[in-house]
Amino acid sequence: MLEVRDLHVRYGDMHAVRGVSFAVGTGEAVGIIGANGAGKTSTLLAVLGLIPASGEVRLDGVSIAGWPPWRRAAAGLAWVPEGRRVFPDLTVAENLEAGAYRLGRGPAVRRELDRVYALFPRLAERRTQRARTLSGGEQQMLALGRALVSRPRLLLVDEASLGLAPIFVERVFESIRRLVAEGTTLLLVEQNVRQALATVERAYVLEVGRIVRQGPAAELAADPALRAAYLGA
Ligand code: ATP
Repeated sequence: MLEVRDLHVRYGDMHAVRGVSFAVGTGEAVGIIGANGAGKTSTLLAVLGLIPASGEVRLDGVSIAGWPPWRRAAAGLAWVPEGRRVFPDLTVAENLEAGAYRLGRGPAVRRELDRVYALFPRLAERRTQRARTLSGGEQQMLALGRALVSRPRLLLVDEASLGLAPIFVERVFESIRRLVAEGTTLLLVEQNVRQALATVERAYVLEVGRIVRQGPAAELAADPALRAAYLGA
């Protein structure tokens, strides 16, 4: 579905992404893992068209590299940004409605919200609560829900667990695993390598702007060098 080839991102003299290539198939859950500053977020933002980049980005074989972000969103890319960034003064329901704006105001929106509430019962209980009064973990669920109501073809999640207490990290990844089990096509960008490899089927390891390893998640999780570098083993 998504194919990225020889992607480069530069911030002035800083060459942050150096010829990255990867692919995500329909129904597949793929991870890009690596340490702080490896270039994960830059890669994701380039796929979304939110920062200038060079290289090829194809969606279902069509080059979208020259498309503005809104057009990529309309084609089915949905972004869950790092740090959640929900609308703090809107309620849970209003945040979700904002994500569903392309569906208009009819029963289709209701259906999508109900689907998200079924997935995240905590959000259903808190639907009239303002987003800023939610816990960090609940805000992350809301950010995921807000992306899901647009019925995306590909969900791109940036550092889902950053800054969350361990109990919420576990819950957020449990929700993402449920989405994967339902067949959501996912690109997960994560520095929590342990959780990421327990969630995706396949992953790419990014180091200083380059992919240095790739393979099935189980294989990477068992690799002694990776365990030493990322899993503290
Ligand atoms: P993190 O998990 O910390 O977000 P990351 O793997 O997502 O790390 P990026 O955020 O993509 O990494 O950053 C890659 C490199 O590019 C880093 O060295 C970072 O300092 C640099 N960088 C990112 N954004 C900018 C910017 N706007 N201007 C200059 N340099 C930047």
